[in-house]
Amino acid sequence: MISVVVPMYNESDGIPMLYERLSKAAQSWGEDYELVWVDDGSQDETYALCQKLAEADPHLKLIGFTRNFGHQAAVTAGLCYANGDIIAIIDADLQDPPEELHKFIDKCREGYDVVYAIRTRRKENLFKRLFYWAYYRFLASMADIKIPLDSGDFCVMSRQILDALNSLPERNRFIRGLRVWLGFRHIGLAYERQARAYGEPKYTLAKLVNLGLDGIINFSYRPMRLLTLMGAGIGLASCLLAVVVVAMYLGNLTVLGYNPHQATGWTSLIISILFLSGTQLFGLGVVGEYIGRIFDETKGRPMYLVGRQVGFDHQGTKLPGR
Ligand code: UDP
Ligand code: MG
Repeated sequence: MISVVVPMYNESDGIPMLYERLSKAAQSWGEDYELVWVDDGSQDETYALCQKLAEADPHLKLIGFTRNFGHQAAVTAGLCYANGDIIAIIDADLQDPPEELHKFIDKCREGYDVVYAIRTRRKENLFKRLFYWAYYRFLASMADIKIPLDSGDFCVMSRQILDALNSLPERNRFIRGLRVWLGFRHIGLAYERQARAYGEPKYTLAKLVNLGLDGIINFSYRPMRLLTLMGAGIGLASCLLAVVVVAMYLGNLTVLGYNPHQATGWTSLIISILFLSGTQLFGLGVVGEYIGRIFDETKGRPMYLVGRQVGFDHQGTKLPGR
């Protein structure tokens, strides 16, 4: 069986089109299929619409969160509830065309465990494209694992790797990184990312920044190590500077118009204080990002809560790592 996981948040405008195109594509794969739709606490008609469809079509199964828990949580829930031997993840907005999925599924049948999508072109505005471009390269330089450039969550996975993924208990999930961390056999397929078929993006800037930070912080100690290096560098430089200034004092030397016997130097003093306190605050912030995530993990709260569902036997909330 093939499962297709679709996270959705306030996507009611596009659901009929999504259902039609996805079902049509799924029927062409020549295997039994299920659509696992996850309503991420939408405020619009999304759940009601999906419920109607799910009650009429046994292929469509639905879970509804008790509130908005975020895209990664919705995908995680879908992956936990999916029963297929091959599992696909796509967005609800049809930016990743369902008609392309058969190519990914074929690769998976050939024996690959992850067939991820490489976005050759994005039909989004220049600023967003530039930002994504820079982010993926920065992430690659920071992360301790080789996360492929320009690939999102859109992918097809084997049951084997999915079981491994679902066994990981961590809560701050950056799925496109975790699936690389797991290993197994990966392959990328190029495709053109479409513009949104309807509606506005549901990822706010804050959510995007969060996701971006999760990617970097969950896969690297490097930001903290950079801070250590920076601290050591500044410390060393100030020692050298002290030696130079003492020598200038003893020799009564003037360098760049500065002589230690004069009590001038307000500007350089203020600048170094500002620079150092800025660096320290930045450092605290970076350390705080890690501590906040440790806090999240130790609290042990579930990543999401399922309030209602259609088509699953499982009652209550199914979570990863349990
Ligand atoms: N989404 C979600 N919860 C959220 C935000 C987004 O489930 O809090 C879903 C959304 O409905 C869509 C997918 O995640 O199916 C990708 O969101 P969007 O298209 O807004 O992101 P973008 O494509 O701009 O990265
Ligand atoms: Mg989108």
